[in-house]
Amino acid sequence: MTGDARVHRPDSLEETTALLRDLDDAMVYGGGTAIQILRKQGLLFTEDYVDIARVPGLTDVVVTDDTVRIGALTPLRRVETDTRVRQLIPLASETYGHVANPRVRNTASAGGNIAHGDYRLDPPTALAVLDATVELTSSTGVRHVSIREFFTDFQETAIEHGELITAISVPAQPARARGAFAKMRALSRNDWPSASAAVLAVPDDGFIEIRIGLGAVAPTTVYLAFDLTADMDEQQAVDAAIDIANSAMDPIPDVRGSAAYKAQLGRVAVEEAVRRCLKEFARD
Ligand SMILES: Cc1cc2nc3c(=O)[nH]c(=O)nc-3n(C[C@H](O)[C@H](O)[C@H](O)COP(=O)(O)OP(=O)(O)OC[C@H]3O[C@@H](n4cnc5c(N)ncnc54)[C@H](O)[C@@H]3O)c2cc1C
Repeated sequence: MTGDARVHRPDSLEETTALLRDLDDAMVYGGGTAIQILRKQGLLFTEDYVDIARVPGLTDVVVTDDTVRIGALTPLRRVETDTRVRQLIPLASETYGHVANPRVRNTASAGGNIAHGDYRLDPPTALAVLDATVELTSSTGVRHVSIREFFTDFQETAIEHGELITAISVPAQPARARGAFAKMRALSRNDWPSASAAVLAVPDDGFIEIRIGLGAVAPTTVYLAFDLTADMDEQQAVDAAIDIANSAMDPIPDVRGSAAYKAQLGRVAVEEAVRRCLKEFARD
């Protein structure tokens, strides 16, 4: 770390939460991929960083029959490639595999990714449709927040002073569910999205629940859902998904496109992901 930053390197979770409680304005240092760039750009003036690399247990990925518990410091690349994770939550593995490039994915952590709070992040779209839960730990205990409520506003999250993310728990994808992630980029193959969509189609009694997570088209990740009834064909499913997505999109114009362009790419991403899910059912 360059400049006048003080880096604290606690050896335990207790030490970490005590530092985060006692220091006024400390930031947790995860993989450092966002922090290093923001510091180099002169956009980050925090003096105290709490590097959690020595804290035991934060890179554990615990897979049971019905849940994957991803330790906060687990590299994104591991969520992408771990075979047990791929079996239980294939949509999450697919989506994590779309972040930036392998170099970033090998360094960036699962906790740092969501804590970063950027509205364009890819993983939260899949985590939202999979109904993941964020585990937040402080010196007073542990609390759990649904990922669907974790992003509270533009660049803001539910993390409170003194807390760090210790894990993300993701329920197993229902066996008959099918998922797909579509990412539309305006600049290069490894770039941030102009729009993205994760879709999970979950068959139920006589209908299919269509869950949609949208990235980059509103100030926060968006979560939406509707039921697809037995009398609706694929085109009607796509039309319904686009209708509900339209009502939630509020894109921020920037170098990756105007608001209208991003909204159009949002519609394309939703259509692509919905069609891919439904085609999987047809193949089964
Ligand atoms: C070139 C480049 C391209 C990128 N493209 C994409 C993309 O296409 N899609 C995408 O989704 N992302 C993209 N990213 C963002 C990338 O996903 C994030 O930089 C990364 O996930 C942040 O993780 P980290 O562990 O490095 O976080 P850090 O840089 O360590 O921290 C980021 C923020 O999270 C906080 N934090 C870290 N860990 C914790 C924790 N355990 N508890 C609480 N707070 C914590 C830090 O205090 C800081 O505020 C890109 C990044 C780069 C550098």
